Amino acid sequence: DKQVRSDIEIAQASEMLPISDIVKKLQLSDGEWEPFGRYKAKLSLCVMERLKDRPNGKIILVTAINPTPAGEGKSTVTVGLGQALNKLNKQAVIALREPSLGPTMGIKGGAAGGGYSQVVPMEDINLHFTGDIHAITSAHNALAALIDNHLHQGNKLNIDPRRIVWKRVLDMNDRALREVVIGLGGPKQGVPRESGFDITVASEIMAILCLALDLTDLKERLSRVVVGYTYENHPVTVKDLQAEGALTLLLKEALKPNLVQTLENTPAIIHGGPFANIAHGCNSVIATKMAAKLGDFVVTEAGFGADLGAEKFLDIKTRAGNIEPSLVVIVATIRALKMHGGVPKDQLKQENLSALEFGLANLHKHVETIKAFGLPHVVAINRFMNDTEAEISLLTRWCANQGINVELADVWANGGEGGKRLAERVVTEITKKPNHFNPIYSLNDSLKTKIKKIATIVYGATDVSFSTEAERQIVQFETLGWGKYPICMAKTPYSLSDDPARLGRPEKFTLSIRELKPSIGAGFIVVLTGNVLTMPGLPENPAALRMDVDSDGKAVGLF
Ligand code: ADP
Repeated sequence: DKQVRSDIEIAQASEMLPISDIVKKLQLSDGEWEPFGRYKAKLSLCVMERLKDRPNGKIILVTAINPTPAGEGKSTVTVGLGQALNKLNKQAVIALREPSLGPTMGIKGGAAGGGYSQVVPMEDINLHFTGDIHAITSAHNALAALIDNHLHQGNKLNIDPRRIVWKRVLDMNDRALREVVIGLGGPKQGVPRESGFDITVASEIMAILCLALDLTDLKERLSRVVVGYTYENHPVTVKDLQAEGALTLLLKEALKPNLVQTLENTPAIIHGGPFANIAHGCNSVIATKMAAKLGDFVVTEAGFGADLGAEKFLDIKTRAGNIEPSLVVIVATIRALKMHGGVPKDQLKQENLSALEFGLANLHKHVETIKAFGLPHVVAINRFMNDTEAEISLLTRWCANQGINVELADVWANGGEGGKRLAERVVTEITKKPNHFNPIYSLNDSLKTKIKKIATIVYGATDVSFSTEAERQIVQFETLGWGKYPICMAKTPYSLSDDPARLGRPEKFTLSIRELKPSIGAGFIVVLTGNVLTMPGLPENPAALRMDVDSDGKAVGLF
């Protein structure tokens, strides 16, 4: 019976501790936290100063195989594993991303784990939370207003209105705003030009907040943001507009990580949520580092599969934050493996051993990728009710034969209790094996070499082709001194290749690079392999239509 309750029903029936009790578990002193209501808190960055000599906890990164559109349960396993470690009397702290309202109102309906492995209060976490995302919206749009005002007031910097790349943002899926014309109505209303809206989590400011080390670094990164180009095609930055002070001021509270708890009262820090395509798709560096100072184990997550989120965590985030990962958990589901083996989406519930066997190639590639980074791994099978014993045993036996570490995770149905064996295995692997972590490319490699290394080593491509535009940009970026930055790939999450229809383990393919985008404030170069949507739309039947609130203020329908 308990397995059919919805996520929100389980969350609302749970007994949360006052946040001050979670703070006590972490042994924070008075000046190091501020309550945000009864069940949330903001943590002060001074924690890092007090604990600077404490050894860091072990960082466990949770990633996945190429997912189905429904997600394979990375957040669920992240929360479940944290709870399970606590059951083993390990001090574990979870670090997750903040959900964006766009996907919540659209397809996902919530992103705070699932079943008996959730972070709470899930309504707050999914709706506005502590206002960080709204602060980012404000900072982003303040900069947009300053740019248009600069044009209106005489344009001393000689900015070409046709070459402004800084758009406006909104934390919603609203396709009608993708392309807009602004400044209409005559000389008093500004300078007319084409622009558009992105979803807030695709803002470079979100990526910056998630990579900054402290307020000084935040300001430094903001000042480097390129907002557009002059008529002579020279980059114009936030520093040129003298806007970095105001933007940093607007973000000073948002830079503080948020503390909440899981259904089993395990501490969870939820902070930052950059898009996993146009940005790096991981929670903030500050949150991960703080979790490592407060816990002996940190369980954290990166968006999409190991080809995208984990690669960016390991090549971008570890460098930005000087973070040392200890182990990678690769979440696999029987349903997604069957899909990689050729089963259509509507037939994934039926047992199909031959398709499962076919689909294993996808998992195999991701294990190889983690090995290429020099890190130990454990595959976690996120158990679904329809998985059959025969399917589970086929998967575990295949892993054993390949020398792949594997454990069944039943954390959705059973919380931490269902993840104990996974947790034990993770701890054993971390203590037993020396860790030879190394990023896939060196920052000194040329932009092309970096892209080729990701394409061949991580995706399994045979070659990379560059459009004429990409070729031109590579030369321009290297001339501007941007060749030293890491690469942030934008690629479909559904395939290892750039074609979402090619499931399993595609072979003999060429990755096509269309265009590059500089994110100089964040400190990476976005490389687009196809069209990337930075303002999603709502689906035909949005999750929002099932949401409600009763007269006592209780939320309904958030999944
Ligand atoms: P990801 O982080 O990979 O996107 P989530 O952990 O957010 O995935 O899970 C996506 C959805 O699937 C959630 O609604 C969650 O409740 C559900 N889910 C996850 N694991 C299971 C499971 N083992 N059985 C049933 N539903 C699950």
